[in-house]
Amino acid sequence: MKKHDQDFMKRQNRLTVFEIIKHQQPISRASIAKQTGMSPTTVSRIVAELAEEGYLLESEQVSAGLGRKSTLLEMVDAAVLSVGVELDRHQVNIGIVDLQGNVIAMSQYPRSVEESPEVTLERVGTEIDQLTKSNEIDCERIIGVGVGLPGIIDNDTGEVMFSVQLGWRNVRLAERLKEITGYDVAVDNELKAKALAEHMKGAAIGSQRTVLLGFGNGVGSAFIMEGEIYRGRTNSAGEIGHTTIDPNGMLCDCGKAGCLQTYINIKSLLSEANKIRPVRSIEELFEAKKAGERWALHLIERALMYMAITINNVVCMYNPDSVILSGELTDKFPEILDEVVDLCYSKYVWEPLRGAFRILKSELHEQGVVIGSGLISQNCFFALE
Ligand SMILES: [Zn+2]
Repeated sequence: MKKHDQDFMKRQNRLTVFEIIKHQQPISRASIAKQTGMSPTTVSRIVAELAEEGYLLESEQVSAGLGRKSTLLEMVDAAVLSVGVELDRHQVNIGIVDLQGNVIAMSQYPRSVEESPEVTLERVGTEIDQLTKSNEIDCERIIGVGVGLPGIIDNDTGEVMFSVQLGWRNVRLAERLKEITGYDVAVDNELKAKALAEHMKGAAIGSQRTVLLGFGNGVGSAFIMEGEIYRGRTNSAGEIGHTTIDPNGMLCDCGKAGCLQTYINIKSLLSEANKIRPVRSIEELFEAKKAGERWALHLIERALMYMAITINNVVCMYNPDSVILSGELTDKFPEILDEVVDLCYSKYVWEPLRGAFRILKSELHEQGVVIGSGLISQNCFFALE
């Protein structure tokens, strides 16, 4: 074997052992060897390395049956920390995330819509600094920063190709934020980050195939297969909001007509509502519905129908075991979930698939993108090391 192939194998084995301990702790060396097919010597060598670097703890536990003592391995959760950042149109959330995806400190602040990438990133740098200082975080333990935002992101280079919500095009985010903070920076689409977080810590723990849908200022999805984000060729898999429903329909902000999201997202609902009378917020639209205004009822019911249709379409496409609903619409108006679920089962989900998946509510809410981005940063760190 060539030298670089050997190095690659070593890194790969190390990552495999690390991941198994992380997800199955407490666990014995023997059990790791059995699962991976590695020799006990290899496992012991990797474990010794990880323990020396401060990632692992050993504990003696008496097994139930035979009363024999065995040594089990556990992660030191705070041995590795990363920063997770969610960049949204109106708000920025920043959190310090440990190995298990726990948020040990968090801050948020409003962002002005007009703000340039440079101003946004400089502020992120300052806020990370303040957050670590005010919480007395040992910066030596921070291995990197992960940033999640809406849009098409080149996750290899960390460049934001295009984000309608932020109005950004070709922004070399990872490169610039690294210059500002000194940390390695990973960048990804927010829904992909959120789906990863829900899979590890939220609604979809233990799921083998998870689809996460986001209904808010846009409509999008992310697919996690056996713990891995499905990315497609250019990290754009899941951009379901721009599938065409009606080529003669309303204009979408992507420039096409009749995209799925024009029937569901907040911006389109408000723009339709304003044809009837001035409506400034999505809350006002829901109030109008409550007050019995028929046009509001029609708009919202149509949106719920298209949400059910979206669920049917992704379920037919990916055959997942779990579908998580997330985003501003379901967070602000949780009552619509029951209606969407009813529509799915009574009408819109293709019959052979009706019992084949669960519809779940996002559990992590506004921490989801922060946790997921932090975890993506950790994954990059361990994969490269
Ligand atoms: Zn579109």
